[in-house]
Amino acid sequence: MPDHDAIVVGSGINSLACAALLARAGWSVCVLERNDYLGGAVKTAELTEPGFLHDVFSAWHPLWVGGVGHAELGDELAARGLEYLNTDYPTATLFPDGEAAFLLRSADANAAELDRHMPGDGDAWRRELARFFPNADLAFGLLGTELWSKSGLALALRVYRRLGRRGAAAFAGDLLVSSRDWLTDTFASERAHGLLAPWVLHTGLGPDAAASGFMTQVIGVAVQEGGMPIPRGGGARLVDALVRLIHDHGGVCETGRDVERILVRDGQATAVRTEDGDELTAARAVIANVTPTQLYGRLLDKPEPRFRYGRSEMQIHFALSEPPRWEGDERLGKTAIVHLTPGLDGVSRAVNEAERGLLPAEATVVVGQPLTIDPIRAPEGAGLLWIQLQELPWRVKGDAARVLETGDGIWTEALRERYADRIQARIAEHVPNLESAIRKRVVLSPADLHAANVNLHHGDPYSGSLALDQNFLWRPFAASPGHRTPVDRLWHIGASTHPGPGLGAGSGTLVAKQLLEPPLPKRLLARVRR
Ligand SMILES: Cc1cc2nc3c(=O)[nH]c(=O)nc-3n(C[C@H](O)[C@H](O)[C@H](O)COP(=O)(O)OP(=O)(O)OC[C@H]3O[C@@H](n4cnc5c(N)ncnc54)[C@H](O)[C@@H]3O)c2cc1C
Repeated sequence: MPDHDAIVVGSGINSLACAALLARAGWSVCVLERNDYLGGAVKTAELTEPGFLHDVFSAWHPLWVGGVGHAELGDELAARGLEYLNTDYPTATLFPDGEAAFLLRSADANAAELDRHMPGDGDAWRRELARFFPNADLAFGLLGTELWSKSGLALALRVYRRLGRRGAAAFAGDLLVSSRDWLTDTFASERAHGLLAPWVLHTGLGPDAAASGFMTQVIGVAVQEGGMPIPRGGGARLVDALVRLIHDHGGVCETGRDVERILVRDGQATAVRTEDGDELTAARAVIANVTPTQLYGRLLDKPEPRFRYGRSEMQIHFALSEPPRWEGDERLGKTAIVHLTPGLDGVSRAVNEAERGLLPAEATVVVGQPLTIDPIRAPEGAGLLWIQLQELPWRVKGDAARVLETGDGIWTEALRERYADRIQARIAEHVPNLESAIRKRVVLSPADLHAANVNLHHGDPYSGSLALDQNFLWRPFAASPGHRTPVDRLWHIGASTHPGPGLGAGSGTLVAKQLLEPPLPKRLLARVRR
């Protein structure tokens, strides 16, 4: 008797959503995690001082709340204690001159805000929404469909039937536009450009990359419509609820279990072997939430495929004795995510410097303020900041500001702390009480991220470059796109696979759906009966 129906390697959000859906449908599932905690890039910990609950890696859950996993499992997770909180002030950009632009929660509010910076940009926003919404199902469908399958074909046919041949070609062309081109063609004000451009970093792209314009529009609409939800008490509450759901349906999740080999017999994945020598058999599927490099190079012992990783990142966590006091627009103190950047060109320059191996002179600083939504994450009267820097190289060739000594290019503790000092000083220009309020600062360099989670290879938070040749139809790579693998019953999920990174659990839910699809004879019979 096999030990389980399905074995899931790794316990990231995609694994847990997949395992929960399978377990709920009656499969016996086992999730094996090499770390000593479940959740991968979703972890909440008192990283600085007791009473300060930091989301160590990911923090913001609009993709989960807007995704299929939440639609399928949300009620059962809520019954197990998961509660989402939201805000009317999801995001803003603060420019060096102290002026700020905000993305708010309704079309009217956003039109008014954009008009405040440049009359006419409000109408431009409304026109873009009017263009986007009628085909929103197609845009989101691209991110929620197994593209190399009959569902992918059905999506393509839907595009063709609705838009015609020319319209379909125009739709596909629009998907490829860069953020820079879309922003500058649409809005007159550089404030509008600077408000939206930093969001492409959260999709692993830069503002000059192909398809970054499409991703900017998707995020702009998603934030307006969905806000910036986070779980009460920290991101790990989502993990807790998913694990409880898996357990309640008889599944198991084990930590400290490093899978070193997937065992293949007669072309089928039948079992896994852990580093401590245990073999566990799976009757129906092995589902690997790993990078392609690990899947082929280690678990299957085949030649490593060509797969590129993206830029590296750094996290800075602050525990503060009081809330940050922002200078300028009073709404900044209520806003969940504030980007500090000179604007579109600033983001473009910092991305380019990082891609050339340099520490950016003026990074795009993502200042996350979870307490604006969930005050219980810190002692009363205290402050807490979550800082993300997504424009860093893995091997540092130099400093674009020509200030920091980068030595042999390795992320040493000294380099990490000196670069964090630069970022801290940038924030302090707008938050004068920051430095006097710091109780503790914890910085995670690209090397720390690499060590914390094997899927964050070289500190790439998105587990693989999202350049067009490794995105959408070609993720993880053109020779083996999608989630099936050359080995029968072995499925590949996780941020390295379509639809890529983020907490949407897209790949995990897509694979669960395919595994739970009734076999062809049953489907035909059902169709005949209907
Ligand atoms: C710092 C940071 C901030 C982010 N912020 C956000 C955010 O705010 N919102 C958002 O939507 N997204 C965010 N992201 C992206 C998002 O968190 C990730 O894309 C997503 O969590 C990845 O989930 P996953 O299912 O691919 O697996 P992961 O979370 O990468 O987990 C994979 C797990 O598999 C385990 N594993 C790997 N190999 C093996 C093996 N052989 N045996 C056993 N276990 C193994 C690893 O230890 C790991 O725990 C962020 C990412 C990072 C790094």
